[in-house]
Amino acid sequence: MSDTDATDADAGGPYARRIAAVRDRLGDGTTDGPDDADGGGDADALVLFPSTNLRYLTGYTEAPSERHLLLFLAADAGPVFLVPELSGEQVRAESAVDDVRTWGDDEDPLAAVEAVADDLGLRGGTEGVDDGVGTRVLVDDTMHARFTQDLREALPGASFGLASEVLADLRVIKDDAEVAAMRRAGEAADAVIRELRADGDDVVGMTEAELADHIEERLDAHGGTGVSFETIVGSGPNGAMPHHTHGDRVVGAGDPVVLDFGTRVDGYPSDQTRTLVFGDESPPEGFRQVHRLVREAQEAAVEAVEPGATAGEVDAAARDVIEEAGYGDEFVHRTGHGVGLDVHEEPYIVEGSDRELEPGMVFSVEPGVYLSGEFGVRVEDLVVVTEGGCVRLNRTDRGWKTE
Ligand code: ZN
Ligand code: ZN
Repeated sequence: MSDTDATDADAGGPYARRIAAVRDRLGDGTTDGPDDADGGGDADALVLFPSTNLRYLTGYTEAPSERHLLLFLAADAGPVFLVPELSGEQVRAESAVDDVRTWGDDEDPLAAVEAVADDLGLRGGTEGVDDGVGTRVLVDDTMHARFTQDLREALPGASFGLASEVLADLRVIKDDAEVAAMRRAGEAADAVIRELRADGDDVVGMTEAELADHIEERLDAHGGTGVSFETIVGSGPNGAMPHHTHGDRVVGAGDPVVLDFGTRVDGYPSDQTRTLVFGDESPPEGFRQVHRLVREAQEAAVEAVEPGATAGEVDAAARDVIEEAGYGDEFVHRTGHGVGLDVHEEPYIVEGSDRELEPGMVFSVEPGVYLSGEFGVRVEDLVVVTEGGCVRLNRTDRGWKTE
């Protein structure tokens, strides 16, 4: 059975259920947005463009372009896709939306936007004037300004907010098919880590870039599609820069190497980190203790994950361990981030956050210690919050030794 079958198994498919949930939230004033004069925080419609929000609600994915490809979802009507004529057939075939309208290259896309807004009653607004006075529209958080400007022109009287006001709380709780996809992506990454351990000596002498290429080939071989972010191979002192990706440095025997990479399955990413040492020379002084410390911190944070705990408490569980050992200043980032269609999304596992964890949330737990000019250590797994605590989506050995 393919994953698509599994996804379609729930009533109406995930897209119908998600669209219904958005329409509920639009209609009943439960949006998180600021109160405005008319709507009390309520919103009348959501307008998306090519984005992970669009994929989440319709199954359709493509890169943003200069042409208007917009999904309109009003509280009291079915979703309407407005797409370039050349994309019409594809959107009908690949999206869960029935009402797909097209505009041609010889037409004015703004007029097409206005026509859809008219049909959905958005330009009439609550006061019945055709510039949308009293209407509140939530636009995709990442929408390009050229399209938000057109929406402003089509609805000069409307007020605007962000789609995340209704979508963030839906997307943060993953359904079984989403978790299954991330589990498979995690298994592919785990398999590559196991192979790298077995490669051992063979890795010595490769450049970081060559090793990154090798990792990406193996991710594909294990069923992943592409990478979920630029592969990080931080060898020796490069590992002390958390944002270093990969370069020309040659991996030496005994160098600690921070390996942080992921792939996608059905659009859902994996994200894990292991810090390994290749070759038969000893790692630098202090490395063993720091590696042990980071693993302890990671373990403590994973143990702190349960429904009702806050994101800040999980961060503190890791941070306390590292601070007590005197390395607090070398742990220079938050403990983790949510993962879904976006590899960085809610919930953020950050110091002081009082966001409560709920079953179905998926996020990384990735403390690190970075010693400038020497080496870095990070250990990262994704976890899914369950009723009783959490389950890791990465299971491969967290130690630093290779064969
Ligand atoms: Zn990572
Ligand atoms: Zn991460």
